[in-house]
Amino acid sequence: MAKQEDVFKKVVSHAKEYGFIFPSSEIYDGLSAIYDYGQNGAELKNNIKQYWWKAMVQMNENIVGIDSAIFMHPTIWKASGHVDAFNDPLIDNKDSKKRFRADVLLEDYCAKLEDKAQKEIEKAAKRFGDSFNEEEFVSTNPRVLEYRQKQKTILERLAKSLTNNDLADVKSLIEELEIADPDTGSKNWTEVRQFNLMFGTKLGAASESATDLYLRPETAQGIFVNYLNVQKTSRHKLPFGIAQIGKAFRNEIVARQFIFRMREFEQMEMQYFVPPGTELTFYEEWKQKRLNWHLALGLGNENYKFHDHEKLAHYANAAADIEFKFPFGFKELEGIHSRTDFDLSAHEKFSGKKLQYFDNERNESYVPYVVETSVGLDRLFLAIFSNSLKDEVLEDGSERTVLSLPPALAPVKAAILPLMKKDGLGEYAEKIFDDLKFDFNLIYEEKDSIGKRYRRNDAIGTPFCITIDHDSLVDNTVTIRDRDTMKQERVAVADLRRIIDEKVNFRTLLSQI
Ligand code: ATP
Repeated sequence: MAKQEDVFKKVVSHAKEYGFIFPSSEIYDGLSAIYDYGQNGAELKNNIKQYWWKAMVQMNENIVGIDSAIFMHPTIWKASGHVDAFNDPLIDNKDSKKRFRADVLLEDYCAKLEDKAQKEIEKAAKRFGDSFNEEEFVSTNPRVLEYRQKQKTILERLAKSLTNNDLADVKSLIEELEIADPDTGSKNWTEVRQFNLMFGTKLGAASESATDLYLRPETAQGIFVNYLNVQKTSRHKLPFGIAQIGKAFRNEIVARQFIFRMREFEQMEMQYFVPPGTELTFYEEWKQKRLNWHLALGLGNENYKFHDHEKLAHYANAAADIEFKFPFGFKELEGIHSRTDFDLSAHEKFSGKKLQYFDNERNESYVPYVVETSVGLDRLFLAIFSNSLKDEVLEDGSERTVLSLPPALAPVKAAILPLMKKDGLGEYAEKIFDDLKFDFNLIYEEKDSIGKRYRRNDAIGTPFCITIDHDSLVDNTVTIRDRDTMKQERVAVADLRRIIDEKVNFRTLLSQI
């Protein structure tokens, strides 16, 4: 556990030290769960957005992208169910005065039971060696069966209590399991209460006539209310999709995990409109497609798993998360939901406008069903960043910290490094910079030893360092160093664009999906 915490601390401090993420309003002591992206963070974030946008919009003939406003008519949130049901169950510890999500306390308890089951499996695997049959072991070992059964019972009861809004039972469950405040060990809990996560604000100057508005808690509703505008103007037939990247705001109860859970964050969502009755086929298809998109990043297939939901949201008839192994364990990265016709039907009802689609093949009008894919940009950033950050011991015994980002996502693609400024090396290096700057984001650095400059670029994930020396002036060649292999090669200046491009262009990444 301590080790995981250390890894996480290192991620947070590296992100700050190298210009990726700063606490917001830091000179005023920060603002809880709000963060700013620095010069390298903004580039990485933009590249992640591009990877998503290209894969979802550009590579799918029947998906288009929009950019809807953050402020929307307040009735939208009534129709969507957010005013009445976008709540989290919160519980306070009376001694530590700390606030927790009651459902998360129970889920964490179950995760610990699962850890115990995994330990049993690992122990047995060691004991039996090659003859170990995991499938048989997990279906017969009494301890593993007990741990798994207990988790199932807890999660089913939690799901039932939350569906019935039986918050007293959620508290009973916490008490029965003797769950304590993880930091202080106190079991002195308040009642469980529901807390609405939407931020409110006002539109209009005079306070009497001002309208109450919400900052959107998800981008999806901007897609739903524009669905007919887009369908009519794009002339797409069903199935077709609308994608959007944008900010969302949630007044999260517990926000202690850096950019994993923020109060202002960004979502990348796609709603796929399909004929009723076909939604579960498309749901399965999108689950797989989205997983493949993640896997293509090369962060390790073992770091992803699906988690099918026990408790379905009020709008869904099937839902799963893609979970990623963050430094603090497997947690939700992306949600894939079959949202039925819930949202569009609700908007029809509340707006009084028809939102039907005429299906030529079926010769009937209906409200489309929707399959949604929704990934948090900041969570994805954290997944990629934390997985890529490595400390390596080199052959000569020295150490280096390297951020082995997928090259297409790296903030800087190449560093242009003249050995020294004098003797015309600076001018020559500037010429190379000016030639490559139209294609790639570069940095130019003259200061410090080459070794130090290499280390700095390793730490921000720059795939290539290009060193200009005296020979360059004579034969138009430079040394190019690869971030991952650290191999140095002498190449012609004329070949630089091709060499860099082969490694960092999006085609290389996208063709692996
Ligand atoms: P969680 O259970 O972690 O609160 P959620 O199920 O409420 O998440 P969704 O409403 O499905 O999340 O939102 C879709 C995606 O948006 C999530 O998979 C996650 O990546 C991202 N997301 C949601 N809330 C936050 C947040 N507070 N900070 C950062 N990203 C978030």
